[in-house]
Amino acid sequence: MTALPDHDWPEMQPGWVWLCGAGPGDPGLLTLHALNALRQADVVVYDALVSEAILAWAPQAEHRYAGKRGGKPSAKQRDISLLLVDLARQGKRVLRLKGGDPFVFGRGGEEGQTLVQHGVPIRIVPGISAGIGGLAYAGIPVTHRDVNQSVTFVTGHDQTGETPLSLDWEAISRASGVIVIYMGMKHIAPIAEALRDAGRPASEPVAVVCTATTPDQQVLETTLGTVVEDIAESGLEPPAIICVGRSVLMRQALDWQAMARGLAPRDTDPLGRGRPAESA
Ligand code: SAH
Repeated sequence: MTALPDHDWPEMQPGWVWLCGAGPGDPGLLTLHALNALRQADVVVYDALVSEAILAWAPQAEHRYAGKRGGKPSAKQRDISLLLVDLARQGKRVLRLKGGDPFVFGRGGEEGQTLVQHGVPIRIVPGISAGIGGLAYAGIPVTHRDVNQSVTFVTGHDQTGETPLSLDWEAISRASGVIVIYMGMKHIAPIAEALRDAGRPASEPVAVVCTATTPDQQVLETTLGTVVEDIAESGLEPPAIICVGRSVLMRQALDWQAMARGLAPRDTDPLGRGRPAESA
């Protein structure tokens, strides 16, 4: 097994729980802290979106699946948190491994809080969130100077699994050139409608990035006016990140995976600046 680079790596102590992000899929997007934890854990409690390849880096550990998909009631969440408490109390080194970043739509805050309430010591290891890293793998910069000075991350589900129509879509629309939607596939129709009602044009570019950063990554480029039918027609399935905004156009220049396959960029000036990218 390859050694970690020279550094004073923290030791996982028995009875501790480390809440770690595993990144969006590609094992190379794991942090070194997460790898350090994988090497030491007695038990890895992992989610649906954590890849096999990453789990294989903890061959000494027991692997426990604690996945849940799509807005199910929170009773099960409580079971997962209490399982972590239980394992810690047995004196295990517990690695709680979650897709992306544990604190981004990942209930890491709730799990951490339950552990603390039960007196279990924790460490938090952030990860690359799908809404940033997944878009980067599609060649979409989540901010771009010519497009947006802010970005809003929203969830397509609320706690009950319904559309979050309680979100102030008008305020979001006005404030954010780019909107990144997690868990948005199921309710894309009301979400697209809410954005249109809030004044976003039908022609606005939208990208749907499925199983981002994995070998199965698929990207659909569409618009706000056609996203619903295009998703239906494509047969694309979750997990997907949906990005609304003109930064999606940058993919025409920055689709590095296509370029790695030998394709030329479709347009090296997709925002039509008409001058070199770096000029002020
Ligand atoms: N904590 C995670 C998000 C968990 S919520 C993070 O920071 O990325 C689960 C949602 O994340 C999915 O429904 C999907 O919208 C998004 N997601 C996670 N991994 C993804 C991937 N590889 N490709 C596309 N979307 C992903």
